[in-house]
Amino acid sequence: MHFATRAIHAAQPSDPTTGALVAPIFQTSTFEQESPGVNKGFDYSRTNNPTRQRLEAVLADLEGARDAAVFASGLAAEHAILQAFLRPGDDILLPVDVYGGTWRLVSRVFAPLGIEPRFVDTTSLDAVAAALAARPRLVWLETPTNPRLHVSDIAGIASLAHAQGTLVVVDNTFATPVFQRPLEQGADLVVHSVTKYLAGHSDVIQGAVLARDPAVFEPVRFLQNATGAVPAPFDCWLTLRGLKTLELRVQRHADNARRLAEALAAHPRVARVYYPGLASHPGHEVARRQMSGFGGMVSFELKGTAGEVTDFVSSRRLFTLGESLGGVKALIAQPARMTHASIPAERRAALGLSDTLVRLSPGLEHPDDLVQDVVEGLDALCANRESIAPLAV
Ligand SMILES: *Cc1c(COP(=O)(O)O)cnc(C)c1O
Repeated sequence: MHFATRAIHAAQPSDPTTGALVAPIFQTSTFEQESPGVNKGFDYSRTNNPTRQRLEAVLADLEGARDAAVFASGLAAEHAILQAFLRPGDDILLPVDVYGGTWRLVSRVFAPLGIEPRFVDTTSLDAVAAALAARPRLVWLETPTNPRLHVSDIAGIASLAHAQGTLVVVDNTFATPVFQRPLEQGADLVVHSVTKYLAGHSDVIQGAVLARDPAVFEPVRFLQNATGAVPAPFDCWLTLRGLKTLELRVQRHADNARRLAEALAAHPRVARVYYPGLASHPGHEVARRQMSGFGGMVSFELKGTAGEVTDFVSSRRLFTLGESLGGVKALIAQPARMTHASIPAERRAALGLSDTLVRLSPGLEHPDDLVQDVVEGLDALCANRESIAPLAV
């Protein structure tokens, strides 16, 4: 069956007792037992809940996984993976452009426990091969990355890593299972910030871990119950609702992103556009091979001062200034001052994460309106620049 059909039918029969087309929200903490220890598969909602179980089944189906565990946030899901597999003395490889929250988790929570994060250019197989010589326990990939949309070769890295018993985790938040299914390309674990495209309406914080091999999955499932960062049944229900339109939504997001990337590439106040769908993007060929679409995010370097960028991102009519991405309403961010502010300034500079980088998350608005909003702002900068010359660009 095709993805769009499975998103609506997989694990979603009508309710057997009432015939309700849509699954009920099991808003309960506990379940009656027939006799001590004998129950209908549920005893307490931290351990399992029917609404969450249904969401996990749908997500597993869509991602091509055997199992899924849904968490209270993307970072709680990441934490469970790291805690399940890393012990003092272990190393973990991560992309230099990894999501700021992941950077904080490995650098500020796990590094003090004696678990060494090593940031490498995962867009280069040679760089990954060289870093694998230190025998890290995990390779953490994020592709495309947040915010510069670096693309890493999942299958290529998985075969290098597996040759020495290193597990591969892929943060698939940006691509979504519509455009990229890392488990089919050899990844051992997929992690999502469900908060973004999967839930899709900017009204839920949630995460997920998915795997094919029960031996890899079970330690994560154990921690979901043992540490307790579980989502509420109502939030699971909202995500189930969001998933039904996932394919339609991300296709529109991706169309909007492509239109914006093209308009930005043609504008004189734009120094550089990051969008894997442009032939000029260094990861374009790998993205074409491993993705069936280029995703819904676009970032760009604005030619100007950090202050001008702050003005630009704060004064758009349709792009709301805010963290997060992947919702129906367009969002704009200046990552160095927002999503990635938790990375110290010197480190941001070393990574090339400049103050003039702008990240766009087009929503489901009409592309003409979104393009107009961005181009108007850039044109206004050009006009101001002429009046306040001679500032250096
Ligand atoms: C937002 C995000 C996360 C963290 O997810 P939360 O749901 O905010 O905890 C992880 N990875 C990526 C790529 C993200 O964009």
